[in-house]
This record gives sequence, C-alpha cells and structure tokens, in this order.
Amino acid sequence: MNRRTLRTCSRCGKVFQGDIDSIMCPECAKESRQKSTIRDRICIDCGRSFPGGPRARRCPECRASRKKEMDRLRRQSGGPKRKLGSVDICQRCGKEYTVESGRQKYCPGCQRDAALEWQRGRKAAYNKRPEVEQKRKERRKKRMKACVYCLRPFWSSAATNLCSDYCRTEAERISQCRADEKRGQGRNLQKLLDRREEYRERIKSEMLQ
Ligand SMILES: [Zn+2]
Ligand SMILES: [Zn+2]
Ligand SMILES: [Zn+2]
Ligand SMILES: [Zn+2]
Repeated sequence: MNRRTLRTCSRCGKVFQGDIDSIMCPECAKESRQKSTIRDRICIDCGRSFPGGPRARRCPECRASRKKEMDRLRRQSGGPKRKLGSVDICQRCGKEYTVESGRQKYCPGCQRDAALEWQRGRKAAYNKRPEVEQKRKERRKKRMKACVYCLRPFWSSAATNLCSDYCRTEAERISQCRADEKRGQGRNLQKLLDRREEYRERIKSEMLQ
C-alpha cells in the first residue's frame, strides 16, 4: 500500500508529499543520490583509481593532459574559427561587432549585461540550494532585537523595539516627560531614567543567572 502523507524533509526541512518511509523531499533525495554516485573509478588511460561520477573516465591528471593535447590538435587544424579583427554577430542583440578575443560572444555593449545576467542566474541558483535556504532559516531563528527600554534580547516579527507592556509604558513615560520638559513644564526626568537603569540592572542579573 502506498500511503502518501505530508512529511518533513530531514535535510532541508521542507514539507512535502511523500510515502510514509521517505525522509527526504524529492529534490534532496535526488541530490543525495547524485552525491553517493561519486565513487572510485578506474582511469582508462593510466589505470589508477580516482573518485568520480558515473561518467568520469579519466583521472584529473589524464583529463588535463588530454585536454592540452586536444587543444594542440585544434590549433594545428586551422586554428580558431574566427580571426581577431573579423566581424561576427552578437548572440544577444544581433548587432555586428569586431572580434577582439577568441571566446567573445557578445558585442561590447552587451558584454557587461550578459555577464551580470550570468552572475544573477548563478546567485539565484545558489540561494535556492536547500542547504543555503536552511542556513538562512537557522540564521533567522537566531535573529534577536534588543528592547530599547530594558536592553533585553527578544524577538518579535512586529515592528516594535519594546519587549513587554511594562517596557512600552515606561518608555512612553520617558518620552512624555521629555516632551513636557521641552515645553518648560519641569518634571523629574532623572527619576524615570534612574528607574530604567535599575530595571536594566535587574534584567541583566536575571539573564546571568
Ligand atoms: Zn529536502
Ligand atoms: Zn589517469
Ligand atoms: Zn549585443
Ligand atoms: Zn524590555
């Protein structure tokens, strides 16, 4: 029987539809499968074993020297297809441009934009990675505000910087007193500030216990 229920992925924490035995969401399961397919392979050139994915056929050293050899052959057989200084079509806007380097794909006007696009794509992909999202979530859990009245660390998603009704009332008292003093109504601000200082000390010692 295939009973599908809501599950929490043990890797990324996402809720997903899965059968009763699944511990990872489909994305995480796929990634962890891919990771586990990295194992020792035998290099077809030198016969040494090396860690590689299912399609890896050569060890890193042999792969590098083969690439060098292939590059040399390509250079011998007529060199690069496009000569520097020749004219080609921009792959982004279709305008003609003068080729200044062998791997150039875009006209000078598009080069910067194309590079930025590429970077943005990479960044978006990075941010979507489950482990990055997870780290962000954990960081968010650790987010803390400090109460402007008592300095106690606390968290609220509401737009407030006061941790309790008591602190809110006392903070309002202080600002009211300040406003009164400005209008020339002498009041004892210092008394309120002293009381705040006392309370801050109390909170601090409570937190140290
Ligand atoms: Zn997952
Ligand atoms: Zn090898
Ligand atoms: Zn262009
Ligand atoms: Zn407070």
